[in-house]
Amino acid sequence: MSVVGEKLQPTVFELSRPGRGDGKIPHPPAGALDRIPAAARRATPLALPEIAEPEVVRHYVNLSALNYSVDTGFYPLGSCTMKYNPKLNEWAARLPGFAGLHPLAPDAMAQGTLQLLWELEAMLAEISGMTAVTLQPAAGAQGELTGILMVRAYHRSRGDLERTEVLVPDSSHGTNPATASMAGFKTITIPSAPDGGVDLDAFRAALGPKTAVIMITNPSTLGLFESRIGELLEATHAAGALAYMDGANLNAILGRFRPGEAGFDVMHFNTHKTFSTPHGGGGPGAGPVGVREALEPFLPEPRVLREPDGSFRLERAGERPTSIGRVRSFFGSTGVLVRAYAYLRAHGGSGLREVSDDAVLAANYLKALVGQAYEVPFDRPCKHEFVASAAGLKHRTGVRTLDIAKRLIDKGYHPPTIYFPLTVEEAMLIEPTETESLETLDAFAAALVEIAHEAETDPGLVTSAPHVAPVRRLDEATAARQPNLRWRGVTGLETPCPQ
Ligand SMILES: *Cc1c(COP(=O)(O)O)cnc(C)c1O
Repeated sequence: MSVVGEKLQPTVFELSRPGRGDGKIPHPPAGALDRIPAAARRATPLALPEIAEPEVVRHYVNLSALNYSVDTGFYPLGSCTMKYNPKLNEWAARLPGFAGLHPLAPDAMAQGTLQLLWELEAMLAEISGMTAVTLQPAAGAQGELTGILMVRAYHRSRGDLERTEVLVPDSSHGTNPATASMAGFKTITIPSAPDGGVDLDAFRAALGPKTAVIMITNPSTLGLFESRIGELLEATHAAGALAYMDGANLNAILGRFRPGEAGFDVMHFNTHKTFSTPHGGGGPGAGPVGVREALEPFLPEPRVLREPDGSFRLERAGERPTSIGRVRSFFGSTGVLVRAYAYLRAHGGSGLREVSDDAVLAANYLKALVGQAYEVPFDRPCKHEFVASAAGLKHRTGVRTLDIAKRLIDKGYHPPTIYFPLTVEEAMLIEPTETESLETLDAFAAALVEIAHEAETDPGLVTSAPHVAPVRRLDEATAARQPNLRWRGVTGLETPCPQ
């Protein structure tokens, strides 16, 4: 069944009328089908919709106008760094030399791409204070897995087989424990202290000869810089464990904090977040991983190597037996990596520092405005994002964070991240990024404050939102567990009909 709301429309199958699409699809020459064995031929023709070209164009253009994107409005989704993505990067990624390169092209024909990848590795190493970088992983989550597999290989290479545990703070992103369990480790969750940082006593109590690695997000998913990072890293290394940094929040610390210098052994980057690739639709992304010397032998193969004559080549299979092996086909998400390269070159070192400074300034400014109507649980400056809570509002009026998010849609905004991190009741995680204007931040804060007033005076207006969206409230549990994403028409020449 298609969803048909006020602004929605029938599916392209429901618009189909026999004979309308005639002449657009060339028919095979007479007798062509006879050469295909009968068993491989369809018993009934494929049920393609029959529809005239202008109707097809209008159908898809109208559907595209229902999308919300960072190109159409403010996108304050916390933890995701939904910054504006410069169009120059799109041009760069589409250059035929990059976009048209065959993935199996010999090294001699791929010198430009190999050089770009080699230089990008060097730039990421410099930004992070790491000694070497792999660009292969497809996104942050796969970067985590790659990093933790290298940690596992490191301990094994030393004959240290007792380290079966990964320590993860309770504010961490769900991918951290998921990664630990995929790599065969047991996750030990460390509670947060009242200031939002890792509880040092609980951490020390959990740390020991069984700890393989700690995974710390810095700044954390609460938007707070981990102020006890020195103690955490020192204790970790003293216990013989390694330290992993989830670098998803790198947007806040470019040019200010280098994880490798601070003592982290391995980290991932989310280039689609920090270095601008459109990722609202879910991908593709890229999750390069940086390591310090101890983990370098275990990097995925093939690495990009520079020969003494200045040419570039890919490592041959088996050339470095300590490698954990391939984690992704070919060069990784090359188009995303080209965008990251273009972004880095356009900004340069001082430009990147400015990116972070502006992102932090924007978040603290917005936090002060939003704090007029909602609780902001941690009373210290935030980094690139902050948590607000509607717990008080809920107790007074019954209006929950979910309702506020839905009401924001009426006011023309994409909602922030809600109910994450799990450690804050009725949480809204808000990340403005450095690319939004003062006027946009003011207008968004005003909308949130207005919703808080509506909740006090007319709570029903908020709890029944959205009122102007193409669809109203969905059954989110069913939508997540039993998504109905496929058209199931009848096969045959007759017009397919909805089921
Ligand atoms: C986004 C994010 C991840 C996962 O990264 P993907 O690129 O989406 O796979 C991990 N940790 C944190 C804190 C994140 O925000």
